[in-house]
Amino acid sequence: MTCTEFLAILDEVIDQSIAAETRAEIELHIKKCGHCEVVFNTTRKTIEIYRAHELYELPTDLRDRLHNAIMEKCKKSKGPCS
Ligand SMILES: [Zn+2]
Repeated sequence: MTCTEFLAILDEVIDQSIAAETRAEIELHIKKCGHCEVVFNTTRKTIEIYRAHELYELPTDLRDRLHNAIMEKCKKSKGPCS
């Protein structure tokens, strides 16, 4: 799994509406990739806060911003993005 693939399915990861094998791949990836681990934890916390306040609509640009931030970091550190 690459960072791009990880980000593409991030919503499903958070919703836990993914297959167990996909989840295993994700866990493998975030163990190797600190950037994605941060994104994963940040996104999960953000969503928990939104749900706690019964605000189910996430900011539409949230995923775009996370995506840009991670790709930027990976480029600089030559992470496993490609
Ligand atoms: Zn990654």
